[in-house]
Order: sequence, then structure tokens, then C-alpha cells
Amino acid sequence: MSGQILGLHHITAIAGSVQINYDFYTRVLGLRMVKKTVNFDDPATYHFYYGNKEGTPGTILTFFPWEGVGPGKPGVGMATEISYTVNPDNYEFWENRFREFNVKTGEKIERFGELYLPFSDPDGLFFTLVIPAKPDERKGWETPEVKSDNAIKGFYNTTLTLSKIDETAKVLTDILGYHLQSQEGNRYRFVTDAISTACTIDLLEDPEGKRGRNSAGTNHHIAFRVADENTQMAYQEKVMAKGLQITPKINRDYFYSVYFREPGGVLFEIATDNPGFTIDEPLAELGTNLKLPKQYEPSRKEIEGILPKLKQ
Ligand code: ZN
Repeated sequence: MSGQILGLHHITAIAGSVQINYDFYTRVLGLRMVKKTVNFDDPATYHFYYGNKEGTPGTILTFFPWEGVGPGKPGVGMATEISYTVNPDNYEFWENRFREFNVKTGEKIERFGELYLPFSDPDGLFFTLVIPAKPDERKGWETPEVKSDNAIKGFYNTTLTLSKIDETAKVLTDILGYHLQSQEGNRYRFVTDAISTACTIDLLEDPEGKRGRNSAGTNHHIAFRVADENTQMAYQEKVMAKGLQITPKINRDYFYSVYFREPGGVLFEIATDNPGFTIDEPLAELGTNLKLPKQYEPSRKEIEGILPKLKQ
């Protein structure tokens, strides 16, 4: 397993309200907030992480909630859909729950023999639930309202919308170890065999589509998962060898990151499993304390004064 890209690590999106974002993901979807920190490049903004109990890579959705920011526009050069897996027979539970909380949903979509239940978050970020053909054994976080049997398990895949898929497909196959599994119309499904969950990426070719605009309700980047920094550095070399620009290794406290923009315009990151979310608070307390990177710790009082209030 080591030395390979292990599917998705996390996806990062933008939200327009701290409290609405928190309530939707923890209460309606029943995910666990596994880290409450700040944007390391802008400490007046929160950075929220939602996932399963441990915040296992492949379950982590993160947000920069920019209070009051206007809506973005999903489109070409972006991740435009995130799919989460649930257990077989869970759709009724989720359809009822979405109705109860006035969540925007759509007609079920069939793709590659699988049925997808579409819904959007309060900012319009687009999701689907999927019951995958091959059952997902991961255990989701349990809340008083969303018991383990119905819980969201983690990512199934994400869809990237591109005006032309060829160059992005090459990055997936020639650098990241994915292969084309199937095609339906303008949707091309790529999979890696290195791991059995969060191992799928769909490329949607939309030659007439408009470029997306990043703001609330859109995805900012997607991160691929590697076991450790040595593997990450090997991928950094591979990306450079293909003539693409990539950042140096950046310490994100909970993982190490490198970033590059793939030729179709989507921002890609490669992030490590180490050190993980329990580096600065115990498993039982994940997400309950405001954690700051050490450069901002001396300014904690001011930062806490500036950050919007969050009721947890
Ligand atoms: Zn990231």
C-alpha cells in the first residue's frame, strides 16, 4: 500500500456562515467536527474539519466559512460534486431527514448501475449519497439523531468538471496511479486499486461549460492521500517531471501538503496521513477546542475576539 496514492484525503470548500455550516454538517448530516482551527493564511477565518470519529483520510470535508461572503458559481475547472456512501436501504431515512430539515434534494440519478440521491448544503454545495455496488465497510460517526446504521461513511468520489478531460486524465493515470474504469456519455470514471474506499474520481467533460467562480457553495481544492512524507516527496518529483509547477512541502499541523494546479484548472493537493488530528487534542475532545498553529498562539486572545461566535 505504501508508495501509492491512497484515494482522496480531504476536500475543501467555502461556506457563507459559520453557524449554519456547523449546524448542517454536525446535526443534519451527523458528521463529527474533528478540528476547529483557523485558516493558517488568514487567522481571522475559521477552518472547520468534518469527518468520522477519528477524521480518517477519505472522510474529511473541510470549510473556510467566510461570514457573509456571496455565492460562488460551480463550473469548469472545479470539483462540482461530492459523493458520500451510505448503507443499502438508507435512502428512506435520508429522504425523510432532508424533508424534515428542508434540505434541497433532487430526483435520484442512475450512473454506472448505481443510484445517487442528490442534495445541496445551505450554500448550494452539491452532493450525492450513493449506495455503492461494493459495500463500504467504514463505520460512520454516530449522533443521537443519526445512528451508526444510517450514518454517512465517508467519500465515495468527487466529480471534476472540465472543458476537455484529456490532460487531467493523464495526471490521474500517468502520475497518480488511477486507471479509466468506465465511461457513460461525457462522464469518465477513474479508479485506483491502491485502496478500496474514496478511490474513485469522475471526470465530466463539458466543452460548452463556463468556468466556475470560487466563493460560498463551491469547492476550493481536492487532496489526494499518501501514507507519509517520503511518498509525498516522490510524487512532488513526479509532478515536476511532467513539467507542472508544485509547491514545497507545507506543514498544516495535522498533515503535510503540496499543491499543484492540474492542467484542467482544478487545484490538487497531496496530503499525508501523519501526524493526524490527535496531535494536539485527545480523540474524545476532537473539534471541541479552538486549536491554533503555534505562530498564532501568542495572539489567541485577539483571534478569539475576532472570530465569529460558534454555538456547539
Ligand atoms: Zn487541503
